[in-house]
Amino acid sequence: MLDKVFVEEMEQKLLEIKESIIKQFMAEDEDFKQMVGDMSIKDLADVAADDIGKRQLEALNHHEVKTLRLVESAISRIHNEKYGRCLSCGTKIPKERLRAIPYALLCITCKNGEEKHHRHNGS
Ligand SMILES: [Zn+2]
Repeated sequence: MLDKVFVEEMEQKLLEIKESIIKQFMAEDEDFKQMVGDMSIKDLADVAADDIGKRQLEALNHHEVKTLRLVESAISRIHNEKYGRCLSCGTKIPKERLRAIPYALLCITCKNGEEKHHRHNGS
C-alpha cells in the first residue's frame, strides 16, 4: 500500500484529468452537452463513463473515452486500496510512473508485454 498523502495527490490529479476530458466532450459534442445539461463540473466528476450513452461515446474521441475509463478504473482502485499495484502481475508500480501517468494500471514490464502482444496480432 502506498502512502496516503501520495494516493490522495494522485486521486486529485485523476479527478482533474476526468474533469478536463468531460469539458472537452462538452466542447466537441452538442448531444453530450445537452445530456449533462446544467450539472456543475463537480457533479460531472461523479458521472461514470458507463452512464454516458453508448451512442455518445461512439461519437466522441475514442482515445479520450479510453483515457476516461482508465481514470475511472484508477479511482475505483484507490477506493479498493489496490491503487499503485500492477493489474496484471501485482508488482508495485513506481511512483515516478504514477506521477507521469496517474491512471497507469500496469507496470512497465506488463505494459510493454501487452504492446508486443498487440503488435503480434497485427492490431
Ligand atoms: Zn506487471
